[in-house]
Amino acid sequence: MCGIVGIRDAGGVSFSIYYSLYALQHRGQESAGIATFDGTKLHKHKAQGLVAEVFDPEILCSLEGNVGIGHVRYPTTGANRPENAQPFNFFFRDRIISIAHNGNLVNDRELRDEFEAKGQIFSTTTDTELIAKLLIDELGNSGSIEDAVHRCMRDLQGSYSVVMMIDGVLFGFRDPLGIKPMCLGKTKDGYIMASESVAVDALGGTFIRDIYPGELVCIDEEGLRSMQIARAGRRAHCIFEYIYFARADSVLDGKLVYDVRRTIGKKLHEEAPTSADLVSPVPDSGTAYAIGYSQRSDIPFVESLMKNRYMGRTFIMPSQTEREKAVRIKLNPIREFLADRSVVLVDDSIVRGTTSRRIIGIMRDAGAREIHMRIGSPAIKAPCYLGVDMPTREELIASDKEEEEVRRRITANTLHHISLAALVEAIGCDHRSLCTGCLTGCYPVPIKGEVSEPVRIEFLDGTYQTKLERFESE
Ligand code: AMP
Repeated sequence: MCGIVGIRDAGGVSFSIYYSLYALQHRGQESAGIATFDGTKLHKHKAQGLVAEVFDPEILCSLEGNVGIGHVRYPTTGANRPENAQPFNFFFRDRIISIAHNGNLVNDRELRDEFEAKGQIFSTTTDTELIAKLLIDELGNSGSIEDAVHRCMRDLQGSYSVVMMIDGVLFGFRDPLGIKPMCLGKTKDGYIMASESVAVDALGGTFIRDIYPGELVCIDEEGLRSMQIARAGRRAHCIFEYIYFARADSVLDGKLVYDVRRTIGKKLHEEAPTSADLVSPVPDSGTAYAIGYSQRSDIPFVESLMKNRYMGRTFIMPSQTEREKAVRIKLNPIREFLADRSVVLVDDSIVRGTTSRRIIGIMRDAGAREIHMRIGSPAIKAPCYLGVDMPTREELIASDKEEEEVRRRITANTLHHISLAALVEAIGCDHRSLCTGCLTGCYPVPIKGEVSEPVRIEFLDGTYQTKLERFESE
């Protein structure tokens, strides 16, 4: 769970990267960083905190150059430490290299052991440094940058969308299964690569397309080039990006996330109709789903819970009692809408179950007579090893419980999770194009102690394609 961006634009890039990172802030709130290259020198700044806290105009003005990359971090591997903030910047044989990564490797321990056995040291605990080590290892063997990316795709297992800047040339690549998103856009005088299309929108740019799984895109003064390095027998886009993680206004692998969520809402009503007085979302994650449910059922959409927009990640309370109060500050029920009413309450997912139980409690205290919970994802049965911060099996409420037991624990009158078939239909692709590990417990990459269905990956004799059609159609 991180956001990445890379921009090359004749008009200078630091402010554009800043705005893009702002648009990707939902992907990570722990740290933010930007690295730019001015033709001879690298400029960089990164720190713990939100994008708005880490940068100010003076810092942005000091980040000179027409090419750069940026990152917002949410830790999935690697502790919450300042040195784990990205981009990583380093020098290798007169080359200036910056790299930023979104995803999670599952063979990082083995790869680290191999490097350490050769006497190499690591200065961070992130798997991004491992990607950097692999790249350097290949470059050190007099391989080209393309060979180095080929090596990464051969040796790395897991999810990785990467932006990288080498002596001012911008590269982006995505793992052969396309687990984490990454897209390409046109800016006024250049190009952008970013985790989600909202980063392109933030610059008033034009979305071109997603970066293909296994593709390497290179952007330099001559424009765009692309090379298909690897091709997998199937894709495995993260299903949870559609359910919760991506912004609703992003287009992910060809689908507008808002539309997917609204369609799921409609299907929730088809699968589990109810007659109620109103349909309410858990703001904001349930909104698009609730609108769909209301449209299909003709039950009025009413916002009966108001979210305090100013409660950020800094609102940390030391004790359980204080935390319970914090929920009240975060979400306030509107009594006038709830008193003696029967409510369909819609949210995207139940993970630990604590949020749903607390919200239902608050709504009952405000007078709601019945609460029918509808959830936009199937029950989450297994942890994620591929980049979404999810708890262990023991903490996942549905890992060992049937829906009826979950309903009882969250104290809803009725509970329904969307079926996997309906969810896949709403996304509009074959279920074999998605990673459904958290829902099925079966993963597209081998993970120790888990069931997996590994995918065959073919490596290609890459040649660069420069035709613009490759970027505009397909
Ligand atoms: P809970 O069931 O108490 O763990 O909370 C679930 C709610 O948290 C969901 O309705 C989501 O809106 C949100 N959520 C889902 N997945 C995550 C995640 N990986 N990190 C943070 N919040 C999440």
